Order: sequence, then C-alpha cells, then structure tokens
Amino acid sequence: MRVIGLLGGMSWESTAEYYRIINQEVRRRLGRQHSAKILMYSVEFEEIEEMQAGGQWDEAGQLLAEEAQRLERGGADFLLLCTNTMHKVAPAIEQAVKIPLIHIADATAERIRQANLRCVGLLGTRFTMEEEFYRGRLAERHGLEVVIPEPEDRAVVDRVIFAELCQGQILEPSRQEYVRIIDALGRQGAEGVILGCTEIGLLIKPEHSPLPVFDTTEIHATKAVQLALAEV
Ligand code: GLU
Repeated sequence: MRVIGLLGGMSWESTAEYYRIINQEVRRRLGRQHSAKILMYSVEFEEIEEMQAGGQWDEAGQLLAEEAQRLERGGADFLLLCTNTMHKVAPAIEQAVKIPLIHIADATAERIRQANLRCVGLLGTRFTMEEEFYRGRLAERHGLEVVIPEPEDRAVVDRVIFAELCQGQILEPSRQEYVRIIDALGRQGAEGVILGCTEIGLLIKPEHSPLPVFDTTEIHATKAVQLALAEV
C-alpha cells in the first residue's frame, strides 16, 4: 500500500472528510482492520485565506511547496492538495517535489467523462469559478463545457463557503440558495454540477440536488485510494 500525502486544513472541516472517506474506502475494498497509510500536513487556514484575499499567490505557493516537501521527506508516495482553490498554485508545488500531485480537476473530469456528460456547472470559491486555472483545465485538457452562476449568485456561493462552511456551519437557508443556483445552472445547459469546493459536500448531498453531483472531495479521496492500492 502506498502512503497518501494530504496537504490539508483548507479548511480542516473538509480535510476531516478526506480522512474519513479514504479510510472508509480502504475498509470497503479490503475489509477487516484495513486502513490507509496517510501523512498529513494541515495548515493554519487564516494565513492562507489572508494570502488569497490579498492576492499573494506566490507566497501561498511557496508556503504550500515547503509543506509538500515535508510530506515528501516524510515518505509520502504522492500528494493530494485538499482544496480546489489552491490548485491555482499547483505548478509551484509540482516544481518543488518529485512525487506526483494528483490534480483534483483531473480526477473530477475523469468521473464526469465516465458518466458521459459534456456540459457541467461549477460551484466553488470566486477564484475557482472565475479563473482559468480550473475551468480552463476542464475545458482544454478534458473537453468539458463549463457553466458558472451569474455574478450575484457567485457572490452567494463564495460567501457561504467562507462565512459558513469553512466555519462548520451547515444552514438550511444556504442549502436552499445552492439548490436554486444549481437549478439555474441546469437551465443554462448543465447536465451535472461540480461541487468544486471541498466543503460544499457538507451542505449539498446528491438527494438535495436537481442535477447529478460531482463532489470533488469524494472523487479526489477515492482516487487516492485507487492509487494507494495500485488499482490503476
Ligand atoms: N476548500 C475550498 C476549495 O476547495 C475553499 C477553501 C480555500 O480557499 O482553499 O476551494
């Protein structure tokens, strides 16, 4: 079994989900007392969030690259960055280590292609929804058409992530807002919706959504287990 390196804490609410899903999936596949070999570095999220807000992406990339090196030195065989947003600095991390970084958008696109969908909605932080590092990768590398909410709805999605979900608050009015926004994405042509922020799965379960959901946390964590058990 290979050792999974988690760069987590962004926020820890979702990293706890990675830890749970990875271990549950190993037990589901292998049974008995089997569990995953995991090394985790969990950051101080306030520092990261301030860098995001201040546009200090180079500093954030350098910080995460150093933590990735710690995981590599500790014996991780590959890395997962447990946030969609910080994949904006994935190249800085990839340059700093020899072990592979398993990109969350690639794992998600693979699942979407398996479901035979072509056009998907994307929910996430404003960085993930609006910038090229994520949507561009889905479109150019994976041939997916990506639709995002209207500006005022993007503001709602982003606010709920930082002001509620990253602080452990799961609120029914926000769930209803998300469902309304997912519904609107469907009317824009989306055949499914990417929960492209690792906390959204805490709020939106498949049964809440009018469209099929692609939960990046579940997809990324499951991909890690496939690689750890070398089932690829
Ligand atoms: N976990 C979130 C994501 O997947 C947002 C927190 C962050 O900004 O890293 O994008």
